[in-house]
Amino acid sequence: MKSRILKCTECNRYTLKTICPACGAVATNPCPARYSPEDRYGSYRRKMKRFYDDRQTQGT
Ligand SMILES: [Zn+2]
Repeated sequence: MKSRILKCTECNRYTLKTICPACGAVATNPCPARYSPEDRYGSYRRKMKRFYDDRQTQGT
C-alpha cells in the first residue's frame, strides 16, 4: 500500500476517513477506481496469476 488516502465517491474530496467529512458519503481508495474500465480483466489476470502460483508452490 502506497498510502491510506481515500477519495470521496460523491464530492471527490480526499480524506483519510472512510466517511467523507464534507458530505458524509463513503470514501474509497482512489487507485482501483482509475482502472475501473479494466477491472474485470485485472481480476481475471489476478486469478490466473494465483492459479499459476498455486501450481508452482505445489510443484512436483
Ligand atoms: Zn464528500
